[in-house]
Amino acid sequence: MDYKTWKTDTYKIEVDYDACNGNGTCVEVCPTEVYELLHDKAVPVNIEKCIECCACVDNCPQQAITHTSC
Ligand code: SF4
Ligand code: SF4
Repeated sequence: MDYKTWKTDTYKIEVDYDACNGNGTCVEVCPTEVYELLHDKAVPVNIEKCIECCACVDNCPQQAITHTSC
């Protein structure tokens, strides 16, 4: 299982890289541009900009994203 985790002081985002297919939906739906695709995998490079809206979690067709606030 290939899970990657990113943290701030208040929340944590985890992406299942076995499930992520790089379709970019999370990049498109995130209102604060938290995600970028690197090597066809989602990376929350701007995690500190997250406003905990849960759009990434709710719209990922692979259910690859886990967010501790969602
Ligand atoms: S929406 Fe899901 S499957 Fe698509 S790039 Fe983001 S994490 Fe990967
Ligand atoms: S919870 Fe909302 S603001 Fe935070 S990374 Fe996901 S889509 Fe972006």
